[in-house]
Amino acid sequence: MAKPFSPDKILVTAGPTREMLDPVRFLSNLSTGEMGYAVAREARRRGKKVTLISGPTALKKPAGVRWVAVTSARELEQACRRQFVQNDILIMTAAVCDFTATKPSKQKISRTKTHSLRLMQTPDIVGGLGRRKGKRLVIGFCLETRDWLKRAREKITRKSLDGIVANYYSPAHNPFGKRRINTAFLDAFGNARILKKQSKTQVARKLLDWAEALALDSRKKN
Ligand code: C5P
Repeated sequence: MAKPFSPDKILVTAGPTREMLDPVRFLSNLSTGEMGYAVAREARRRGKKVTLISGPTALKKPAGVRWVAVTSARELEQACRRQFVQNDILIMTAAVCDFTATKPSKQKISRTKTHSLRLMQTPDIVGGLGRRKGKRLVIGFCLETRDWLKRAREKITRKSLDGIVANYYSPAHNPFGKRRINTAFLDAFGNARILKKQSKTQVARKLLDWAEALALDSRKKN
């Protein structure tokens, strides 16, 4: 009997990106990388071949995982493009900075009463990959401060994702770091599942079960 399809090469991105403003200052966000590293560890535990592309974090490199370090959104994009074709599933937990300096200063910016920065959008990395994914499965993440489910749904379409893990931030719910979090798994068919007060390891386990089920479904349809 033929072996059921089991995607065995998984690309995970994690952590924040940093966009340099001058040689010693940057723009970034509060991401710690905990979620992506938990996914990479869990995938490895299941015997998958895992590549983890990581922005700057304080976390230990997971054993048995191919690890690629990046700093900026531009570097993350280049690394993702190189690795994507060699993988079956992309899980994009990285908190990519949405803006970067149009022209980072070569010298340290001097202290003045006011200073304006000119910022431009970074490339939509997962959107670019999602649109030419072929048989690969692409799962995104998002963090919202309002209308989290509605905005997450829009991102599935806009970024050609197979699914998205939605997170939200509110004064009563801070999802950064090692905490129990509320999340929602939304797929491209309109299904939604809300998970409450889960550790990031628990979310990682459920996410990989879900991704494998989605990959199997899409294989059956193709
Ligand atoms: O920031 P946003 O809510 O749009 O993020 C949704 C998904 O898009 C995430 O998976 C994130 O990693 C990805 N993203 C990206 N390139 C960006 C911004 C976000 O790939 N410039």
